[in-house]
Amino acid sequence: MDIRRAQLWQAMGLGPIYRLRSATTHTPAEAEPALPVANRAASIARLEWKELEQEVTRCRACSLCETRKQTVFGVGNTNAEWMLIGEAPGAEEDARGEPFVGQAGRLLDNMLTSIGMSREGQTPKSVYIANVLKCRPPGNRNPQPEEVSKCEPFLLRQIELVHPALIVVMGRFAAQSLLGTDASIASLRGRPHRINVAGRQIPVVVTYHPAYLLRNLIDKEKSWADLCLARKVHASD
Ligand code: URA
Repeated sequence: MDIRRAQLWQAMGLGPIYRLRSATTHTPAEAEPALPVANRAASIARLEWKELEQEVTRCRACSLCETRKQTVFGVGNTNAEWMLIGEAPGAEEDARGEPFVGQAGRLLDNMLTSIGMSREGQTPKSVYIANVLKCRPPGNRNPQPEEVSKCEPFLLRQIELVHPALIVVMGRFAAQSLLGTDASIASLRGRPHRINVAGRQIPVVVTYHPAYLLRNLIDKEKSWADLCLARKVHASD
């Protein structure tokens, strides 16, 4: 454990810090204990960007850490007006460590371009993109409730740090997780919702997942309507 991390833990009142008796009998992942389970969410809620990303990288809170190639933290403007949230990394994201870089990601980039936005740069038109889960579920299966609850503090802290004016949530799974509902995507689309993150109300617009749109081209028109709604909500909020 480096001195900076030890100081950070101490400052957060998180101790004791365990040291290995024998580094040779443990893997590097075991050598660095994860944040203590008690107060884990509260501890994550205090991390700044660099430490937050490090904590995600070394996370072993659920079994997805056994099968991931790497964690997928997030990408884009860390002060974005718009934050986009998807479900979980797929195979390409797992290999490259960036969200939405596969076929669905290319469609997402095209959709962003169509409204003058992008994941590149640090301008008012640059978005931030993250997923509910930071690790790929094997075989792209649905995320499990335990995986979501372990990963949730990371996403909430990302939202708090980005401080977006608007969140666009993509797909049924991400929408249901973020809004805490089991309502259908059809019933959630078409009107703004609000979530409370760290005492701040943030408008949320629900749209289809780009991977769904690749299979259901007919619904692209509806996703365009969702982006128009997002622009309207953003302009009026
Ligand atoms: N689907 C998602 O929800 N997120 C990604 O990063 C890639 C595909």
